[in-house]
Amino acid sequence: AKNQGKARYEIFDREMHAVAIKRLHLENDLRRAIEQQQFLVYYQPIINLSNHRLIGFEALVRWQHPTRGFISPIEFIPLAEETGLIIMIDSWVLFTACQQLATWKIKFPHYLPLKMSINLSAQDFRKINLIEEIDHILMETGLEGQELTLEITESMLIENINKTIDLLTEIKLRNLEISIDDFGTGYSSLNYLHRFPVDYLKIDSSFVSQMQEENRNYQVVSTIIDLGHHLGLAIVAEGIETGQQMRWLRELGCKFGQGYLFAQPLSAQEIEIKFLHK
Ligand code: C2E
Ligand code: CA
Ligand code: CA
Ligand code: CA
Repeated sequence: AKNQGKARYEIFDREMHAVAIKRLHLENDLRRAIEQQQFLVYYQPIINLSNHRLIGFEALVRWQHPTRGFISPIEFIPLAEETGLIIMIDSWVLFTACQQLATWKIKFPHYLPLKMSINLSAQDFRKINLIEEIDHILMETGLEGQELTLEITESMLIENINKTIDLLTEIKLRNLEISIDDFGTGYSSLNYLHRFPVDYLKIDSSFVSQMQEENRNYQVVSTIIDLGHHLGLAIVAEGIETGQQMRWLRELGCKFGQGYLFAQPLSAQEIEIKFLHK
């Protein structure tokens, strides 16, 4: 029995070791990916649920690994955050997505207005030159502030409340819009949400996907929408996959949505073919 215990520890050790090695490889690959620009931006349409009009896109990063193929952001964003590499990745995504929107504005003027929504991580928010970078991008691309939405999470809001309010105020001075992503999944910042100058609440797909199966989740969604409206915010639902979900959300007063029902995240070229060449 003693030996068995020891053997088990050895297996555990070996597994830990394998995990550490894999992580190290991934980290090296991630550094190389930044140097060699192995990232792509995909775009998921955001739809006005009452008239089905395209109002814009969420930019979602994709990593095209030279040997492993596509790697999901769910796999590499956490590591990118731990290592700080996310700052460079997000800068690139922000610039690329803005350039893409500027190109589409010229190429498809009959589709205006279109907006671009970008995901930020906590580190992006901590870096000192975020505002300068936004100014630079707006100048380079000629976009108006109101054409850009920044998606942030609740935990980013409450990390340093006063600093966050200052930062968001600077961002709002440039007319950008702010969206609270994955609302309801993390920290609940209900008691001070009203202090932040935000524009949208995004209902996490985990609530939307369970609306049909569980009445409780329908109630949660309904409560989030009411709460958002009390705070004067517009609501975006993510992960809409069925017509039933869409109809319920619309009835509950949710104005905007995205999900496989409308479209998956697509390459810029696919977006042009399926959504803009009409
Ligand atoms: P998120 O911001 O909550 O993005 C929504 C995720 O839901 C995306 O996953 C999207 O592809 C997926 N999705 C969209 N519609 C549906 C649907 O109908 N059903 C289901 N089941 N899923 C749907 P993705 O692209 O794998 O991204 C995962 C997460 O990685 C994002 O979650 C976001 O937190 C992070 N992420 C992605 N791109 C970036 C980026 O450029 N910067 C940062 N900082 N984070 C990013
Ligand atoms: Ca998002
Ligand atoms: Ca989200
Ligand atoms: Ca989510």
